[in-house]
Amino acid sequence: MQTAKDAHKGNATSVADRLLAWYQRHGRRNLPWRTRITPYRVWVSEVMLQQTQVATVIPYFERFMQRFPDIDSLAAGERDEVLHLWTGLGYYARGRNLHRAAQITNGALPDTAAGLMALPGIGRSTAAAILAIGFGQRAVILDANVKRVLTRLHALRGRSATEKSLWQHADRLTPARNAGDYAQAIMDFGATHCRRSKPICSACPVSDQCLAHARNLQHVLPAPQPRKTLPVRAVHVLLLLDAEGAVLLERRPDGGVWGGLWSPPEMPAKADVAARGREWGAEPNVKTMPVVRHSFTHFHLDITPHLMRARHRANIVSDSDRHVWFTRDDERRLGLSAVAVRLLAGTQA
Ligand code: SF4
Repeated sequence: MQTAKDAHKGNATSVADRLLAWYQRHGRRNLPWRTRITPYRVWVSEVMLQQTQVATVIPYFERFMQRFPDIDSLAAGERDEVLHLWTGLGYYARGRNLHRAAQITNGALPDTAAGLMALPGIGRSTAAAILAIGFGQRAVILDANVKRVLTRLHALRGRSATEKSLWQHADRLTPARNAGDYAQAIMDFGATHCRRSKPICSACPVSDQCLAHARNLQHVLPAPQPRKTLPVRAVHVLLLLDAEGAVLLERRPDGGVWGGLWSPPEMPAKADVAARGREWGAEPNVKTMPVVRHSFTHFHLDITPHLMRARHRANIVSDSDRHVWFTRDDERRLGLSAVAVRLLAGTQA
């Protein structure tokens, strides 16, 4: 009698074929980056999809393509506008890198893994997705969804679940032809069918090849990462309003999670915010508002906003490259972090 392990040894081609057939019937083939495929559109979508759900990405992708339909327009665009179109999407280094890479490329994306990976913000799997989907080459992808599918198909645990072994399994499954469709098929299959919780094993086209299913391990694989207690960092921000209700924003230095974005001036937890505000011409009264927590992957940021008012803009700052006065309905297209948007809403509610 054939065991699950015997069946599993079987046939990478058959798994790929079945995933391709599944994609034809159930794949999300009408996503905006799949309807008119170019290497540029694949690149932008793959970068936006890193760490972000498809449903969130769709409107961002569409707005981005309206403004920057090709690599030349992106290269010629202002970084402020790129970050403006990224506002709320998070992980802003992705937008900064996209813009920088477009300026480096000279009008066309390279069609080799080495060439793509030499650009900022393009790792091995993103390069492979661009090559497979955008250029029609055979290239091996391994994003978070693919990792989950492979971990379950091969019941990988402990030492067998290394990055290296996942790449080997991914390579073995990737077909010689149709690698672009296959890449989209296995990513979609992981996102919607072999999903993190409640995988649909009862209607799975590759269940007879799946060791996790055979051993009833699908709900415990991949093993969750141990939860860490995140450290908390605390900062103050000065919400300085002028007589018309405009707020003073400062451009953050390059680098860091919000590098290049605009936000109300931020100060260390020990800073005397009121004294700083007065130096900039604010009235003496300070209203300290409730703490706003923003959580990153590696830490929580506790932000205490202090509201002060200034009668005259001219007393405060004049360097427009570093400081601007900004209202919520301002038409300038600046990049704001999600937290800046939230704080600004608080000042103008
Ligand atoms: S049988 Fe279940 S766990 Fe295995 S690949 Fe299919 S959906 Fe995923």
